[in-house]
Amino acid sequence: MTKPRFFEFPKSKFSKKERELIAILCEVGEVIHKIWDKQYDSKAGRANFYPSGVSKKQIVEAAKKDKDILAPYTLVKKDKGKLVAVSYRDEYKKEIDQICVLLDKAADVADSRGMRKFFLQTRKAFDKGDFNTALRVYLGNIDLQFDILVGPTETYNDKLFGKKKAFEYILSVYNPEESKYVEQMERVMQNISILKPKRSVAEKIDAKKVRVRVDDAIMYAGPNASLHPSSTNLPNEPEMVAKYGTKISVYRNAMHDKFEKKIKPHVSRFVDIGLTDSELEEGYFRLIMLHEITEGVVKFSDMQKRLEQYFDAVREFNAFILGVKSASYHVLQGLIDTKQYHSILFGLMLYGIDVGARYQNDSSLIEYARGFSVLLSFALERGSIEIVDKKIKVDPVMLSSDIDVMSSVMLQLSEEGSVSDAETLFNEYADFSVFEKLEKV
Ligand SMILES: [Zn+2]
Repeated sequence: MTKPRFFEFPKSKFSKKERELIAILCEVGEVIHKIWDKQYDSKAGRANFYPSGVSKKQIVEAAKKDKDILAPYTLVKKDKGKLVAVSYRDEYKKEIDQICVLLDKAADVADSRGMRKFFLQTRKAFDKGDFNTALRVYLGNIDLQFDILVGPTETYNDKLFGKKKAFEYILSVYNPEESKYVEQMERVMQNISILKPKRSVAEKIDAKKVRVRVDDAIMYAGPNASLHPSSTNLPNEPEMVAKYGTKISVYRNAMHDKFEKKIKPHVSRFVDIGLTDSELEEGYFRLIMLHEITEGVVKFSDMQKRLEQYFDAVREFNAFILGVKSASYHVLQGLIDTKQYHSILFGLMLYGIDVGARYQNDSSLIEYARGFSVLLSFALERGSIEIVDKKIKVDPVMLSSDIDVMSSVMLQLSEEGSVSDAETLFNEYADFSVFEKLEKV
């Protein structure tokens, strides 16, 4: 069983009231974590949205008679041999009631009208079990001092159908000092024409509807306690993005942690990169932002249906390489210089190497590993990366053109590919042994 994860934060920066508020919001996270513990069987390594011993076919059959069976906010249970849907609101009544009480308390303590409204609207949505509305309240919080991503939002844990959402929690505080980065990224966003392929929701949404906030994380609970995300983009459903736009949250302290502990140690495996650690960290930061922006807007409404089990792998990989490809246009437009572009390319390589080193111990990384194994195998085959004197040597110019090629293939797959197209591509190139090859370096 995992425990919620807490980040150090400078307590002296907050007033007594603000610290009181933080304590209440940490309690909310503890309750969310309890729900997650009920939703996820850590011994079996899977969520229990469906009763065990019931086949996919039986569930599909039951869903024909009762569409709640495959709804995002219900669990399926067996009742006298029959499959029934139980709403999250009913199943986790005790916990959700506690959360409502805590959110009321938070609203009492909060010292701005905006924050009060935010907590009360979230509470009202929770009380009704209306988690779509709770998500919309979260999407609307762009510059309030505190933010909570709370509720069932992601479907990663429903390995059977990808429909049921797991409860998660992130408590964070707005980081105004990072406004420098936000300004840069806002400029990037105004130039996302390359990120607007036809038929994607991005084509229809206005750049102003892509909103970013940079925060410092205070607490992660639910699946985030072990996933340790450094950023998120929501909502997931293309229809909702078209309607409400996309909100990207970057957790700067979590990202810095990850860079220091997971990413930087791989630097020595490369032939001299020619960039300082802080240049590389900035490149990594840009890479993640580009990923989130791309993933947030380049969505195709029927993509999940067409690509089935390859959907996550294609979506994640596409977000990385199309994001990096768009950065090459930023160079042309003078938004970033070549050195900064190279730092993004190395950020991508380091990220891929890190995924390769960890996917066997962390099943949530497999979908990422698939994409990177394709890119690394392709790049090795084409010679844009080579192994020289037991180190990885990258030719940034060649790698950039390989990414271009790969990105066209992936974009086409996302736009109109079928599950068998994806299978063909991944069978040919998704060779996980490439990670071992590079690991030995
Ligand atoms: Zn992603």
